[in-house]
Amino acid sequence: MAAWQKELFTALFLYLLVSIVGWITGTFLLLNLLLTIGMLIYQVIQVNRFEKWLSAGARNTYPKSTGIWEELYYHVYRIKKNNKKRKKQLSKMIDQFRQSTEALPDAAVVLGVNDEIEWTNKAARDVLGLKQLDKGQRIPNLVRFPEFIRYISSGDYSEPVMVPSPVNHQITLSVRIVPYGAGLRLLIAQDVTQLKIMERMRKDFVANVSHELRTPLTVLKGYLETLQDMDDGHSAVLTASFHQMQGQTERMQHLVDDLLLLTRLESQQKKAVCVHIPELLSQICQEGDPVSTQRIQLTLDTDSNIMGDEQELRSAFTNLLGNALKYSPDESIVKVRWYKNKDGINLTVEDQGEGIAKADINRVTERFYRVEVKRRKKVSGTGLGLAIVKHVLMRHDAQLTITSELGKGSCFSCHFPIKRICNCN
Ligand code: ADP
Repeated sequence: MAAWQKELFTALFLYLLVSIVGWITGTFLLLNLLLTIGMLIYQVIQVNRFEKWLSAGARNTYPKSTGIWEELYYHVYRIKKNNKKRKKQLSKMIDQFRQSTEALPDAAVVLGVNDEIEWTNKAARDVLGLKQLDKGQRIPNLVRFPEFIRYISSGDYSEPVMVPSPVNHQITLSVRIVPYGAGLRLLIAQDVTQLKIMERMRKDFVANVSHELRTPLTVLKGYLETLQDMDDGHSAVLTASFHQMQGQTERMQHLVDDLLLLTRLESQQKKAVCVHIPELLSQICQEGDPVSTQRIQLTLDTDSNIMGDEQELRSAFTNLLGNALKYSPDESIVKVRWYKNKDGINLTVEDQGEGIAKADINRVTERFYRVEVKRRKKVSGTGLGLAIVKHVLMRHDAQLTITSELGKGSCFSCHFPIKRICNCN
């Protein structure tokens, strides 16, 4: 039987008893009134006891009671006990989380809506020079590098930003912000000094090797030319060997030139002068051999020019045009178009050649990536041309889009933003 039913039956039994006694003694009303008052007083005392126990935190075991009150005490006591257990588990988890984030090698800072510091780990204090007392301070007031301030206020956190450590300028940090929750952001700073050093060593190595190869290659080429001039054609093997050697030396020279150009693109300061693009395109389209130039259809829909580096743009455009001619049949047309639309200004180089498979499109701009295609004649190349194009465009805030269909042809589009347009006069 449930506690409330027991309580009801007891009350009914008492009223029945009192009513019988009252009826016999002629005090029916008085006895019933006295019983009601007595029961009321009992309940008020129980409520008072319960309230006192609750206001004391309901921490201790509950006082001894009977009936429905015992049930009430028991339920509240159990809820309290479970809550206490859950709280303990939660604080243990928070402690473990704190300890693990404290031990993280990367600096982590939780930022509030107004860039104020809410929490930092040990690495953040060590490498960003933040203190426990800085909690509540705005981080741009403490880490004052312009590139960092620009990054944090830009709201675009898709790419990390490189900044020196405020405590040691020899240390390079890659800082990234990850938004989460309601307006909260997690700032993560990783020490990439070693990576930077290795990157510099790689660049220096490539630059030095390419540079050092230049002189011996020029000497080799010179002697080869002399030998070819001296060749009287008596030995077909010798003539063929000279021809092969000349081809390979030329290939190596292109490779060295492309590597040096890439190194320059990675390390040199950007130049920005107004480049007369229609003129540049007309020159490039007439530069090749007469057979190739006849295949080019140049359309200049705009006479707009752009701010940039003429040499770099020349190599990028030459590479695109060279590829279009190289990877399409000898008689096919290559369309070059310079036009403006509402988003900016564009150059498209379109061919009717072999096309590029979908899986290769994303990879052709990687260094040394050449698509394996069985062709009737061998097409020479270094695999660096499109890497150069990508780099040059990046330095001009431009983007390269490649659309292609196998067997039908490809279209390489360079999209320059409106802000790059300039007036050369
Ligand atoms: P490469 O010196 O080999 O031409 P690139 O970096 O210029 O080096 O091009 C990389 C690869 O992309 C090429 O080897 C070729 O397979 C493919 N490719 C580039 N342009 C075209 C094009 N217009 N049509 C088809 N394939 C192309």
